Amino acid sequence: MELSYILNHLGETREDYFNAVSPPVIQTSNFSFESVLDFRTKISSEFENHVYSRGNNPTLAILRKKLAALEYAEDCLVFSSGVAAIAAAVMGNIQSGDHIVCVKSAYSWTKTLLQNYLPRFGVSHTFVDGRNPDQIATAILPNTRILYLESPNSIVFELQDLKACAALAKQHKLITIADNSYCSPLFQNPIVLGIDLVVHSGTKYLNGHSDVVMGVLCGCRDMIKKIFYSEYMNIGHVLGPHDAFLAIRGLRTLSLRVHRSHQSCSDLVTRLQPHPKIEKIYYPFINEQQSLAVSQMKGGGMFTLALKVDNKESVIRFCDSLQVFLLAVSWGGHESLVMPVVTFYDIPGQPDPELPWNLVRFYIGLEEPEYLYQDILKALDSIS
Ligand SMILES: *Cc1c(COP(=O)(O)O)cnc(C)c1O
Repeated sequence: MELSYILNHLGETREDYFNAVSPPVIQTSNFSFESVLDFRTKISSEFENHVYSRGNNPTLAILRKKLAALEYAEDCLVFSSGVAAIAAAVMGNIQSGDHIVCVKSAYSWTKTLLQNYLPRFGVSHTFVDGRNPDQIATAILPNTRILYLESPNSIVFELQDLKACAALAKQHKLITIADNSYCSPLFQNPIVLGIDLVVHSGTKYLNGHSDVVMGVLCGCRDMIKKIFYSEYMNIGHVLGPHDAFLAIRGLRTLSLRVHRSHQSCSDLVTRLQPHPKIEKIYYPFINEQQSLAVSQMKGGGMFTLALKVDNKESVIRFCDSLQVFLLAVSWGGHESLVMPVVTFYDIPGQPDPELPWNLVRFYIGLEEPEYLYQDILKALDSIS
């Protein structure tokens, strides 16, 4: 389906609402029926009908159609956060006694789900280095049900060969789930590569304005329907209609935003590479996995600098010297951000992270790249 059609028209039956160009926010909890018979028919198949907004809502339906089409999926569900979508995808496909193989550098709350939460229900896991297909294969046990992937992952941007992982999983009858937040559906489509379920933190590129927390789960109709009737309806982590409206508005400019972010990011990486205060730049298209990156993904707007410094104070000085980049978690909005790993060091009562303290992650937003470059240069000067 044509990208412009998806972003501007798909799912929008304008004749149903006065031919308004912008869709209505159907701010309702429930829907009424013409007769008891009508009531009975609709409540017996809630997946297909409008009964209650912890189920279907017409504003969300527009968003779901667009997101499913973007990921080449038959259907999708939207959630009130990315981790809600991740939890639903995982919990919808396991039972007590099952085992999950997951990449070891997955999003922090994905790991927490596997490490702290699911063991209470008798579900075990093995974390693997996803760059190494042999390690994934070796970790598969007779009771493994899910292979959970995130390519690339945050901070050091390690990739998994999605096509090879999907093929391996099929041999062992595993369900594959891939977190595709980094790339957005415009730069990578795991379902096309054979993955079963794709999850997104819609908070990031998809909404793209740092004003909505949202999750997305895409897959075939049967798997989505099954999750609708279990995790989605039982846990009830639904997105509100107004947030869905904002996300539809965000999608109008998805293509402009992610291409701008990617282009500026790759320009900055090229210009920063020779700087003497930079030990290494982590970015999928220049590292050891460059050829895999080129073969399965088309872009992304984050990189991480490993600073060439010998103490944490220098990293802190560098980050505090940045004036344009906001110090914050998250990414994918209009504004450029910086997130240093050193933030997570020396917190009383908490173990230090496994990642080295000299790593500083950048998200490149929509500002002029020269403006961003000068800001980073000035901050590098402060530690030279
Ligand atoms: C932010 C993020 C999540 C979590 O999404 P929320 O919307 O914050 O719940 C999951 N995966 C990745 C890669 C993320 O960046």
